[in-house]
Amino acid sequence: EWSMSDFEIGKYIGEGKFGKVYLAREKQFPPNFASDEAKLRVAMIQSGYVVALKVTSKAKLEKYRFHAHLRREIEIQHGLDHPNVLRLFAWFQDEERVVLVLQYAARGELYKVLRAAGHFTERTAATYVASLAGALAYCHKKQVIHRDIKPENLLLDIEGRLKIADFGWAARSNAKRHTLCGTMDYLPPEMIEKKAHDHAVDNWTLGILCYEFIYGSPPFEADEPDDTLRSYGLRYSVFFSPLSSFLNILCHMYFEQDS
Ligand code: ADP
Ligand code: MG
Ligand code: MG
Repeated sequence: EWSMSDFEIGKYIGEGKFGKVYLAREKQFPPNFASDEAKLRVAMIQSGYVVALKVTSKAKLEKYRFHAHLRREIEIQHGLDHPNVLRLFAWFQDEERVVLVLQYAARGELYKVLRAAGHFTERTAATYVASLAGALAYCHKKQVIHRDIKPENLLLDIEGRLKIADFGWAARSNAKRHTLCGTMDYLPPEMIEKKAHDHAVDNWTLGILCYEFIYGSPPFEADEPDDTLRSYGLRYSVFFSPLSSFLNILCHMYFEQDS
């Protein structure tokens, strides 16, 4: 069992909704992890023992009744092993907090890279879309829907390889789901219309991102933060329906081909 004292805590690297993310280095390789999971060991050695610690305070978990989400985040992300999915190596807790030990993505959020660049070249956009599509196909095959794909949750490792992060909204996709979740600009029509949804919601956001990478902003951006769900949904269903149905067809074609 790990604890905070097994790590040297480095700089603060990210603000989460329920906690903070820190760069950290393991003081030594924990012997109990060397034994069973050989692949995990290799991945951690490759990481140079440098990891990211996502620290959530138990007080906040309590306040926002977020236990089930965090448990799901851990359980789901721990079971995923793909070059474009951020690895969750382990987790532990003490009196005050729950800590996720994550692979470190040294180049940070794709969001910042995109904002700095304005938009990407077609080649760069295609590379990210291909990585993302591969990772989503993998998740969907494992019956996992991410449900919060957006540039803030796509991280880049030291080599610039895309990693899907933040499985806080993820769910098992063996049945249709009803929770309204995700982020405004990336919400698919079935969620806005409060219908049941499945893994196709991730495919929708892949289409949205495809557009955003090339043009620099998402196609259905809300102008004001207080735009209601209603007017927002109405606005885009009127103005963008040809594009939205096109994106839906495109994504479904892609995934049908893959599986
Ligand atoms: P939340 O669930 O609260 O949105 P995230 O898991 O998305 O938390 O983390 C918040 C931010 O912290 C990310 O958007 C990113 O900027 C940074 N971050 C999180 N994990 C890592 C990591 N493994 N490597 C580098 N930065 C990270
Ligand atoms: Mg996030
Ligand atoms: Mg989250």
